[in-house]
Amino acid sequence: MTENAYLVGLRLGGKKVVVVGGGTVAQRRIPLLMARDADVHVITRAATPAVEVLTTTNPGITLELRDYRDGDLEGAWYAIAATDDPAVNAAIVAEADRRQIFCVRADIAREGSAVTPASFDHDGLLVGVLAGGEHRRSAAIRTAIREAFQQGLITAEAPDDVTPGSVALVGGGPGDPELITVRGRRLLARADVVVADRLAPPELLAELGPHVEVIDAAKIPYGRAMAQEAINKILIDRAREGRFVVRFKGGDPFVFARGYEEVLACAEAGIPVTVVPGVTSAISVPAMAGVPVTHRAVNHEFVVVSGHLPPDHPESLVNWNALAQLSGTLVLLMAVERIELFAEVLMSGGRPAETPILVVQHGTTAAERILRTTLRDAADRIRADGIRPPAIIVIGPVAAFAA
Ligand code: SAH
Repeated sequence: MTENAYLVGLRLGGKKVVVVGGGTVAQRRIPLLMARDADVHVITRAATPAVEVLTTTNPGITLELRDYRDGDLEGAWYAIAATDDPAVNAAIVAEADRRQIFCVRADIAREGSAVTPASFDHDGLLVGVLAGGEHRRSAAIRTAIREAFQQGLITAEAPDDVTPGSVALVGGGPGDPELITVRGRRLLARADVVVADRLAPPELLAELGPHVEVIDAAKIPYGRAMAQEAINKILIDRAREGRFVVRFKGGDPFVFARGYEEVLACAEAGIPVTVVPGVTSAISVPAMAGVPVTHRAVNHEFVVVSGHLPPDHPESLVNWNALAQLSGTLVLLMAVERIELFAEVLMSGGRPAETPILVVQHGTTAAERILRTTLRDAADRIRADGIRPPAIIVIGPVAAFAA
């Protein structure tokens, strides 16, 4: 009876578990059972494609496409009745009772001898919630607790990935604080020191506790052109003091963000360093403005280009003439200041002047501004509208797609 269920953890490694049914319940349960090395037997008249993939790609699990028969629970330690037929589910529970096997009944939970808690896994910690059969309540409480963990309101001890004296390079996503990864958010919540870039989402910094030292990377004192060395030095010095340092960046740490230089600097200094990829602005800012960087039969390439140097600069590594020959999507970062030069070299190299352009300033934030124009008019329009960095410039047919 779920109303007063006794909460327990089952060690299912190597033990036979029978799942009857191949729908969404089975689809959610099977991966969790497999993660615990259970000997999973799935019996179902029909399986969803996801269940089929799960069962065919995992040698340790059997799938029989047929109706349930009395006797199927032979040798099982645990069973899940998850067919769409209440009479069949009742028969499975009856067989389980006869054999003294605990059995979950998916359609009418209180009729089963076991009940599945709403649960989540966090840093090797398993949290399960039962609410006397009120599924929405248990799911809501589960979600609230999980969010509290993710925001660092509750902290769990001893994860392997937070080593005192180490550095994590965390991609913060394009600006919207919800677009950081789950791991990034978790590590940020554990930081002793955060070295943040301008473009890292400020809302996430505001959530940090008062004990966390937050360093604005743009304000680290340094001699001219020494900014990166100064940042590297801070990361290494703080880690050497035994603290867990998060280097917090906008977008992805390896997309025009000098992340790999920091990895190398830490490695040379013998400081353990991990990288948490982020959602890059190059893809997500257009996406949130309604523009996909690729679309079937429209383009087969998208190229992300840095515009921090003019085309004729001796240190430029960009072949603008080659880019001008492409018909796909160009995504320009750091290109607002020199858009005149880039538009010119693309047009003279062969890109049609009518090519659609989307410009997004402060994408995914409350300050977002969007401009739609063409290659011919881009420079004038960007100046007339007063578009300033940070902005993304998307060039190509997809840029004309309506939001
Ligand atoms: N590592 C970052 C890019 C750093 S380069 C990433 O993966 O997103 C900095 C440039 O990124 C800015 O000049 C701008 O071109 C672009 N950018 C970053 N965030 C942006 C945002 N929210 N809106 C528009 N452009 C953004």
